[in-house]
Amino acid sequence: FGFKGCQKIRGPQIRNLLEAKDFFLFDCDGVIWHGENAITGAAKVVSSLIRRGKNVVFVTNNCTRPRENYVHKFYRLGFTDVMLEQIFSSSYCSALYLRDVVKVPGQVFVIGCDGLRRELQEAGIPCVEEADDPDATIYDCALSPDVKAVLVGHDDKMTFLKLAKASCYLKDPECLFLATDNDPWHPLSGGRVLPGSGSLTAALEVASGRKATVIGKPSRFMFECISSQFRGVDPAQCLMVGDRLETDMLFGSNCGLDTMLTLTGVSQIEEAQEYRNSDQTTNHSLVPDYVVDTIADFLPAFEE
Ligand code: PLP
Ligand code: CA
Repeated sequence: FGFKGCQKIRGPQIRNLLEAKDFFLFDCDGVIWHGENAITGAAKVVSSLIRRGKNVVFVTNNCTRPRENYVHKFYRLGFTDVMLEQIFSSSYCSALYLRDVVKVPGQVFVIGCDGLRRELQEAGIPCVEEADDPDATIYDCALSPDVKAVLVGHDDKMTFLKLAKASCYLKDPECLFLATDNDPWHPLSGGRVLPGSGSLTAALEVASGRKATVIGKPSRFMFECISSQFRGVDPAQCLMVGDRLETDMLFGSNCGLDTMLTLTGVSQIEEAQEYRNSDQTTNHSLVPDYVVDTIADFLPAFEE
């Protein structure tokens, strides 16, 4: 095996790469911001790319907000030229999948935050209303006869009853089983951890004996959404920039894009090198082509 990839680049190499590519896909958390704090220099990078006529889109597995909320968040954090059309979240892409790909012929049972439900509503997807009866149990709760899909995303109000209801709906083999994303956990400040959608999906996979179809990264579907909304997207002209090997780098590889790991987030360069040196060839799809410390390393390339 050739030890390809994981190339730490700087200065003129970054400049050449930015000139060579015309379509930039950025993961959000860990690349553009940490929660409510923008990564230093990121706003300038994004506006410089846009001003140079590059296409810039954002590809996030965070399914908890509808796209308008992202526009507001970008603005709030100093990204003043990001528009709705540039935002591809796992909630938005799940709505597109249900509406345009499977054309779901009934209601969707959603495990997720209100933001996910709002995104589905905007796409005209009917969701089961959650009855707020704290005493209901799986023995006596109502089940809707019209549920044709179960969609699991991050849900900070997850309950045993939701898990049980979803398991009942999935007894019907015609009922689709979708997950917004399969992220296992997310880092919080102070060393805390936020369990991700993947942890809830795993519970339901065990309970139902079925496997979910994943919409978000590393699945190719988000790239198909981008390709269908931007004319003439050529994978060879794209650069996927992310902070997590198992989602972002694999997503890029799955879609035939060059990939860049930035070290401001979850994954460390040592993990990437381990995957690169692994004799299991499937691990090589997790290896970034390029590595930078932060996307702020792009900034000198914009100076004349
Ligand atoms: N899902 C949730 C609930 C999150 O809080 C986060 C990160 O904060 C993510 C997903 C990952 O988002 P991204 O794909 O932008 O890194
Ligand atoms: Ca990320």
